[in-house]
Amino acid sequence: MIYVDMDGVLVDWYKAAAELVNTVGYKNEDEWPNWTRGIDFVDQRVLDLRAKYPDGVTEQDMIYERVIVDSPLRSLIKHLLQHIYSEYWWATLPQTSKMWDIMEAVSTSESPWCLLTKPISREPLCNEGCTLGKLIWCRCTLGLMAIIIDRDKGKYGHPGDILIDDELSNIDKFKANGGYGIHIKDLETLTVEYLKAEIKKGLGGKA
Ligand SMILES: [Mg+2]
Repeated sequence: MIYVDMDGVLVDWYKAAAELVNTVGYKNEDEWPNWTRGIDFVDQRVLDLRAKYPDGVTEQDMIYERVIVDSPLRSLIKHLLQHIYSEYWWATLPQTSKMWDIMEAVSTSESPWCLLTKPISREPLCNEGCTLGKLIWCRCTLGLMAIIIDRDKGKYGHPGDILIDDELSNIDKFKANGGYGIHIKDLETLTVEYLKAEIKKGLGGKA
């Protein structure tokens, strides 16, 4: 099986995220720890609210609970709530410049393949919008639903399996379990020929 990462490989998540961060005033990636803190903060607040309002949390409940108005990360959190937790944001993310090249290399191999992607949050309850949005993106962009959404990519690595991913820690864990990793370091210089050769190597010369 060939597993293909979405964000940073097929989906230009970083471009969309940078636009979102810039919108709320963070001008460069050095400040992105705030972004991560914002997600963790909102996750916890969403979980607290779900516990308090088991029948569903409305935006009014959130305002009442001062989720938005009291936070030191006020505008960022407001944007996260409006975008990162919404399926619309995920479903409409742009493609990377090499998406079709990568799909060509993968789909012309003789191996079955699917997408393997992480949800945005560590909290399953906070991932509904992200999960649905990713499914819609796959359906609308690639016309398929062959997708696994899982934070632990390493466990899919077995001899004969390949992971194409831009995150080195995913590649390392996948390889530790016996799989073959193709680390996408730079999309700009990536070629179909290189990918096809790597896939062939990973499949033991059978591609
Ligand atoms: Mg990625």
